[in-house]
Amino acid sequence: MTYKISKRAASLSPSLTLAIDAKAKQMKADGLDVVGFGAGEPDFDTPQHIKDAAAAALAAGFTKYTPSSGIPELRQAIADKLQRDNGLAYKPSQVIVSCGGKHSCYNTIIATCQSRDEVIIPAPFWLSYPEMVKLAGAKPVILPTTDRTEFKVAPAQLRAAITPRTRLFILNSPSNPTGSLYTRDEIKALGDICVEAGVLIMSDEIYEKLVYDGSEHVSVASLSQAHSEHTILVHGFAKAYSMTGWRLGYLAAPPPIAKAIDAIQSHSTSNPTSFAQKGAVAALTGPQDHLHSWLAEYARRRAYAHAKLNSIPGISCVNAKGAFYLFPNISKLGLKSTEFCAQLLEQEKVAAVPGIAFGADDYLRISYATSMANIEKGLDRLERFAKTLAR
Ligand SMILES: *Cc1c(COP(=O)(O)O)cnc(C)c1O
Repeated sequence: MTYKISKRAASLSPSLTLAIDAKAKQMKADGLDVVGFGAGEPDFDTPQHIKDAAAAALAAGFTKYTPSSGIPELRQAIADKLQRDNGLAYKPSQVIVSCGGKHSCYNTIIATCQSRDEVIIPAPFWLSYPEMVKLAGAKPVILPTTDRTEFKVAPAQLRAAITPRTRLFILNSPSNPTGSLYTRDEIKALGDICVEAGVLIMSDEIYEKLVYDGSEHVSVASLSQAHSEHTILVHGFAKAYSMTGWRLGYLAAPPPIAKAIDAIQSHSTSNPTSFAQKGAVAALTGPQDHLHSWLAEYARRRAYAHAKLNSIPGISCVNAKGAFYLFPNISKLGLKSTEFCAQLLEQEKVAAVPGIAFGADDYLRISYATSMANIEKGLDRLERFAKTLAR
């Protein structure tokens, strides 16, 4: 029997991140001492009061379907958060709760893009964006950036990429995989271009709370009414509350887009898990002080890893301003990223994600969402490996 796979599905690239991760896990299972820098999730536990709220909801029998776009209490709590933290005035009806920030991105793209549309994506990019665009039948238009501009797109570069077919510009600040963060002026310059051209912005703000050195996260939607009318703001609970496995995210959008996404969700996933939503209410309305200690710990690891990477001959690394990744440049060591990571795993048992997965072959992604002891051990091994190449 030959199975016909839809063009849509066949066009997808399998995830390199997952392949590396699977190999590292297998090596660990075989008893090898592997250091994993591949993690795309915090290494902290979900704060207890959030777990308690979900557990209480479960015990109380809150186990049935909810409205497909989320319980009113949570949509209100999200609208309140957007007002309080970002100065944004969304009605709860403009907020759609979904099964993860990733699902919110997917819903946004499916609701706004179709065949022949173009979506502008700065590289290095979160690897799911181009694949989601392809699933929508639209065309990813990649804008390459390098460490020389801290991986930021210049306004002229964005302007030159816009065509009459451009539907969406994807902005992710702070960024996965580079940790780069746009300033208010930079966000405004890019936002102004989109507003002028009538291009929508999907602003993925999942790392909002993870910023360092007193840097400021700016939501493009907060810049003016016009900016807000052009923005679909994507967010979630995974990173700031360490709730990756809960599968809860949200978006806030202009009413017609929110309505379209509500319809899509009602026919695909229906509601996100009922009792998980109760946990999310506790996350947004409860104490936020866990963030202080998490940020202090991430900052300590980032400082160590950044200095150590730059001390290795042949490697250079701009410092991240947010998220929990560093994106060192390995181009001087003479191997492309896939080969580099394969050999690093084979010879030194260190798992890092090749930059090619994010559209940037001269780099690796190092996640510091792992213990300081692991970071020290893993980077010592990376140093030893690099020395065998830098001859
Ligand atoms: C982690 C992440 C998300 C959302 O993850 P979920 O687990 O689906 O909530 C979205 N965008 C980026 C860039 C991420 O790194």
